[in-house]
Amino acid sequence: MYDYLIVGAGITGCVLAEQLAHLGRKIIIVERRNHVGGNAYDEYDQYGILVHRYGPHIFRTNSKQIWEYLSRFTEWHLYQHQVRAYVDGITVPFPVNLDTVNLLFNFQLTSEEMRLYLEQVRQKAGIHEIKNARDMAISMVGEELYEKFFKYYTQKQWGLWPEELEPEVTARIPVRFNRDPRYFTERYQGIPRFGYTFMLQRMLDHANIHLLLKTDFKQIIEMIRFKRMIYTGPIDAFFDSVYGALPYRSLVFEYQTLPVEYYQEAATVNYPNDYDFTRISEFKHLTGQIHPWTTIAREYPTSSGEPYYPIPTAANQELYIRYKNEADKLDSVHFVGRLAQYRYFSMDQVIHQAFLCLNEILK
Ligand code: FAD
Ligand code: UDP
Repeated sequence: MYDYLIVGAGITGCVLAEQLAHLGRKIIIVERRNHVGGNAYDEYDQYGILVHRYGPHIFRTNSKQIWEYLSRFTEWHLYQHQVRAYVDGITVPFPVNLDTVNLLFNFQLTSEEMRLYLEQVRQKAGIHEIKNARDMAISMVGEELYEKFFKYYTQKQWGLWPEELEPEVTARIPVRFNRDPRYFTERYQGIPRFGYTFMLQRMLDHANIHLLLKTDFKQIIEMIRFKRMIYTGPIDAFFDSVYGALPYRSLVFEYQTLPVEYYQEAATVNYPNDYDFTRISEFKHLTGQIHPWTTIAREYPTSSGEPYYPIPTAANQELYIRYKNEADKLDSVHFVGRLAQYRYFSMDQVIHQAFLCLNEILK
């Protein structure tokens, strides 16, 4: 008899399993894939290079509590993420900063002059109310930079125009008036020194945790006895999509290993306007691994395949709410995580959600 059946061994499931096991609860955690880690899974490829199998993952948080919690299971490679964008035939820093504007337009603006410049272009765009991801981006960088950096990247990534997406999609990307080239400015940032998979395996290494890989929970639910369930899979799949399937965006990763030490100047280079892929990531920049060769991954967005991104539109949110109303009726099942809450959460945000769920459970 288990106290909890946890569905999914991604970060959310692993954090909850670890916390509950230490409180003496008996856990069975069931994972459909053949590995733990969910979309944060990493492994060594056939050349011995550590790669992220579901896209580049950079951990960042402003929460000291979350950083210290993970630090119990891993040391860190203190990496600060940098992204360049290939625009008009050159690569420039992204998010847009002072260097981006100066390089692209051959200006020599100071921070104050860039502020005035953006002030003018924003006024010219005349966005008074932010209704969607286009309004959000234009209200930050004006029409011209929006066209160069956001419009076509967003269309490629989501298969939708920015007008069709909620403002939160582009609100993730700041604009900077200084030369700070970092993608994120959270206080704590890094990559687990021995990888995400190793860190998460350490979390599950407890006598009270029984892990079952390559198993859909629906295959075994009648065969085991448990008191409560924590579900971290797609919420619509739990209810057999009775109201219709919630749309997710997927990606195809094209890996390539090259006999050179480095392929590109930064961990990620975005291609908003060229090619069918959105970005190329080079893992050694992220992990700090020393190796004579290098592995890169190109990301091609698709509408079918593994559910990677909940798609933030108003209609999808409405459909999600119908499932959430059903979920709220089930007292003994907790729905938590990126797929179960149908939210574009980063890793620190799902850990925060897992802690909230734990508080709820222990009330
Ligand atoms: P998941 O990782 O999706 O785990 C859910 C697990 O449940 C999966 O392993 C799945 O196989 C399993 N499952 C589903 N249904 C069943 C079932 N019926 N039976 C058994 N098992 C089931 N976040 C960051 O903080 N930084 C980043 O740089 C970053 N980059 C990203 C890049 C990409 C391309 C993507 C897709 C995401 C990125 N994220 C990033 C987000 C991050 O991946 C998620 O926030 C986090 O992994 C979500 O964890 P989770 O446990 O909620 O969900
Ligand atoms: N985005 C863009 N151009 C870029 C990078 C991002 O238009 O060069 C937009 C796009 O809509 C993307 C969103 O900003 O989906 C969030 O970008 P982020 O890099 O955070 O996406 P993720 O890493 O989650 O795929």
